[in-house]
Amino acid sequence: MLFTVVGPGRAGLSFAGALTASGWRCVRTLGRHDDLRSAAADCDVVLVTVPDDRIAAVALAIAPGRAVLVHASGAKGLDVLKPHPLRASVHPLMSLPDPATGADKLRRGGVFAVAGDPVAERIVNALGGRPVTVDDDHRALYHATAAVAANHLVALCAQVERLAAQAGVPLAPYWDLMETTLENVRRSGAIPSLTGPAARGDTSTISLHLEALPTDERTLYLALANEAARLAGRPPYRDPARTVSTEALAVTPTIPVPVPTIAELRARLDAERRAGRTVGFVPTMGYLHDGHGSLMRAAAAANDVVVASIFVNPLQFAPTEDLASYPRDLERDTAVAGANGVHLLFTPDVTEMYPRPMLSTVSVAELSARWDGASRPTHFDGVSTVVTKLFNIVGPCRAYFGEKDYQQLAIITRMTADLAIPVEVIGCPIVREADGLAMSSRNVYLSPPQRAAAVVLCRALDAGTAAVVDGMRDPDAVASVMRSVVAAEPLATLDYAAAVDPHTLEVPTALGSHTRLLIAARVGTTRLIDNCGVDTGSSRPLGTPT
Ligand code: AMP
Repeated sequence: MLFTVVGPGRAGLSFAGALTASGWRCVRTLGRHDDLRSAAADCDVVLVTVPDDRIAAVALAIAPGRAVLVHASGAKGLDVLKPHPLRASVHPLMSLPDPATGADKLRRGGVFAVAGDPVAERIVNALGGRPVTVDDDHRALYHATAAVAANHLVALCAQVERLAAQAGVPLAPYWDLMETTLENVRRSGAIPSLTGPAARGDTSTISLHLEALPTDERTLYLALANEAARLAGRPPYRDPARTVSTEALAVTPTIPVPVPTIAELRARLDAERRAGRTVGFVPTMGYLHDGHGSLMRAAAAANDVVVASIFVNPLQFAPTEDLASYPRDLERDTAVAGANGVHLLFTPDVTEMYPRPMLSTVSVAELSARWDGASRPTHFDGVSTVVTKLFNIVGPCRAYFGEKDYQQLAIITRMTADLAIPVEVIGCPIVREADGLAMSSRNVYLSPPQRAAAVVLCRALDAGTAAVVDGMRDPDAVASVMRSVVAAEPLATLDYAAAVDPHTLEVPTALGSHTRLLIAARVGTTRLIDNCGVDTGSSRPLGTPT
């Protein structure tokens, strides 16, 4: 068979050497300065061994001829070889460090992922290897697995090298340990081969390790300790030293354990409490954004175990509202929760939370009737009821709520005080997009023009704030300043704008030194809310202990 190599790098020259040694004939090798047009004219196979992001351009530069175009990428499908009708790929599941070693390794009977034209198998057979067919749908996953098996293992070995050197212990015994471990895993599988403190649930030893480890080694240690714990069916650990220092990442990332049932969550948290660990709780409806993330980070900063719930609570939606279409993405939510230090993700379904029709309701009078309660009469009873139930399930020391839903925070704060629920309710500041729009899961409903118009809510709050700071004390006058800003935006329809007492949410006869500005408006069919505090003296924000 005659072949041409395009891309005379490590892979290309390794293949050229190996195929030549197997009796194939290399017509030529072409590099980046050669004319590629007739590369496919006078051979059976053109091996395209250029970097992945250049394959498509190289394929385009070659005029279709009688040869099959074959790439050696692990991650790319066959599409990149358009417009050639004869395409294939051959990816050796091995590293090719240099042409001589590479040519030798290619002929040692290894595994090759093949796809497309049967010539791929002929190449592998010529080399004496084992072909494994990997279709385009599984290509990236196949390659990711290879990256984990080869590159990530090397990264782990490098950590072993560094730590052994720092401990002043020779590397050889650790090599023996690694080799034996790999043999065990090959023989018995990963989970049966687990040993060590993470698998045993030996938290005090892990804490000891984390204290001893150099700061920049902790993230990798903890990520893998948590993975070992997950494999062993144990909750993850939190680095008490908090290795990451930037504000946005001021938590040690975790791999949250999804817990769908009340019984399992109670069992896990009972064990945590028995071990003297504190529990912080962040209730959400999911489709997480950085507003939720900020609550999780606050919980991670003050508690040993962080639980977040994701439950789109039917009780707080009226029949005309968006219960069915409320955005949901559990996979992404799990990633966001993990990046923000959540250990346990409570993900009950509706039948788990409400196996029977609910005959019991928790209702916070007066506070629930005004503002949002006037437009959504059953909403806050649904919220108070589910939050009470979640508090009873989780039993947290502290629970975190966003000021974004200020009336909700006021209601929950009052409810826990009225009913002596043993939890500290902590209010957290609103997280906003760069243009000032308060982050909300419902912002995805907005079309681009509506998204641009939505910023009118915080502009109205800014105008109201400026009026109060300038000395305006008549709450109706401040509300009308806010109303006029919204009136100028044709895509927005105001629901209410008000300047209220931050605790009772009532409109006072004259504004005191602490005021909350509240606003709600529809942009298209999406109802948005926002608020801000205007304090002209010292204040006791909602959610702080009284
Ligand atoms: P939700 O998933 O909308 O029920 O919100 C769950 C929690 O996240 C509530 O306590 C919200 O107040 C809070 N939250 C939502 N958006 C934000 C935001 N932009 N900034 C701060 N907290 C927020």
